[in-house]
Amino acid sequence: MKLHGIKVQHRKNTAGCAPVRIPVPDEVCIPMSMHIGKPSKIVVKRGDEVKVGTLIGERDGFVSVPVHASVSGTVSKIEDITMSTGQKVPAVFIKSDGLNEKSEDIKPPVPTDFQSFVDAVNQSGIVGLGGAGFPTFIKLNVDDLDKIEEVVINAAECEPYITSDTRTMIDKAEYVFKGIEAGKKYMGIKRFIIGIEDNKKEAIKIMGEYAAKTDGVEVKVLPSIYPQGGEKVLVYNTTGKIIPKGGLPLAVGVIVINVTTMANIAEYLETGMPLVEKCVTVDGSAVKEPANVIAPIGTPVEKLFEACGGFKREPSKIIYGGPMMGISVPSASAPVLKMTNAVIAMDEKEATPPKTTPCINCGNCLRHCPFKLDPKGIMSAYNIGDGEALEALNVDLCMECGCCSYVCPAKRPLVQTNKMAKVKLREYLASKKEEGTK
Ligand code: SF4
Ligand code: SF4
Repeated sequence: MKLHGIKVQHRKNTAGCAPVRIPVPDEVCIPMSMHIGKPSKIVVKRGDEVKVGTLIGERDGFVSVPVHASVSGTVSKIEDITMSTGQKVPAVFIKSDGLNEKSEDIKPPVPTDFQSFVDAVNQSGIVGLGGAGFPTFIKLNVDDLDKIEEVVINAAECEPYITSDTRTMIDKAEYVFKGIEAGKKYMGIKRFIIGIEDNKKEAIKIMGEYAAKTDGVEVKVLPSIYPQGGEKVLVYNTTGKIIPKGGLPLAVGVIVINVTTMANIAEYLETGMPLVEKCVTVDGSAVKEPANVIAPIGTPVEKLFEACGGFKREPSKIIYGGPMMGISVPSASAPVLKMTNAVIAMDEKEATPPKTTPCINCGNCLRHCPFKLDPKGIMSAYNIGDGEALEALNVDLCMECGCCSYVCPAKRPLVQTNKMAKVKLREYLASKKEEGTK
C-alpha cells in the first residue's frame, strides 16, 4: 500500500530563528475551551489576584483539562468570546501587573507509578500541541499498557511555514528525551520512533545524536510529502501499520504524541509549571520580520505581529496554524491558544482564493488523496444531498488535509465541501439510526 500526498512549498523561513520571548502583554484573554472536550469550569472571579500558574479553570468532566493563569495580575473580567469555530466560550481576562510572579502553588509533581504519572500530566493542563488539542493525559491513560508496542513521536511538521516543533527539537532536545525516559519509566514503553521530514536537517542531526545514546529510540527520516504528519499517514510510514477505519492508533498498539507535547511533559515533571506559554511561528506574506516567539497563552495575536516588526503589506487574512489546515483568526485581538503553533498573516495576493472553474474530470484529487477518497464524487453526492452515497464514499475518513483542493486545476472547493459533507453524513446516519434501520 502507498499513502499518497503532495509536494508543497515548505516556506520554513523561520527554521533558523531561535524563539524570542515577547514582552508580557497588558492583558491576556484565556478561553476555557482550548482543547477537545468540555470547556473547563472557571474557579476565579473578577478582582481576584493571580500569579503565573494559578489555577483559573478546573477540569469539568472526563474529557477536559485544567487551565492556568499565564501572567500575574488581576482578573479584570470574565465574559464569553467567539472562537474561530463560531462557538462562544467563557474566557478569563487578566490585567498583567508586569511582574510575572510565579504562583506559590507551583512545585514539581512526584510521580511514583503509572497512575500518578497520568495524574501529573492531567494537572499540567497539557493538550496535543501539534494543533489537535486532545487532552494528553487521556491519550496516555491506557487500560492495558501491554497493548502499547511503540510510541510514534510526531515531528513531521509538514505544514508550510510552521517551525515551532523544529525549534523544540533544536532547543529542547534534552526535554524530548526526558519525556521519552518518563514514558519508559512510568508506562513501561520500550520502543519510540521519532518521525521527521527530511527537510529538517539540523533537527534530524540533534535527535539522531540523542537517540544514539538512548535505548529503544529510532529516528525515522521521512520524505517531505504533505500530509506526512497526519496521524494515520505517519503511523503507516513509521511502523507499516494501518489504523482501521474509525479506529485510534491504539488499535494497532501505537500511541502518537507530538514532539513539543513530549518536551512539555518533561518540563512540567521537572518544574511543576503547567502549560502557560507557547512557542509560536509568526510568518506569512504580510509579515515584515518572520520569527518564532514565546508568548503567554492568551496574548492577543496582534502583539505577536508587533514583535515581528508589524506588517509590510496590509494583512488580508490571519490564520491559526498553516495554510493547508489552518483556521481563520476571528480578530487581531484573538488570543494565543494552547494548541497555537503558528499565526500566519497573508497579504491579499496570498489570501485571495483562485477562480473556480468547472471540473474537467482529470482525477488529480483522487490520485493525491492520502486515503484514495474520491473528492469529486463526494462533491457530487453532497450537492444532491445523497447521504447513502456519502457513506459509501467514506467521507468520514477525510482528515481535511486539503491535498485535493491544492491539486485541483479547476480550483474546486473540495476540502470545504468535504467538511460540510461529513456533517451531512452524520445527520444521515443519525436519522437512519432513529428509523431503526441500523
Ligand atoms: S479528500 Fe480529505 S483526506 Fe483526501 S485529500 Fe481531500 S481533504 Fe485530504
Ligand atoms: S481535481 Fe478538480 S478538476 Fe480534477 S477531477 Fe478532481 S474536482 Fe475535477
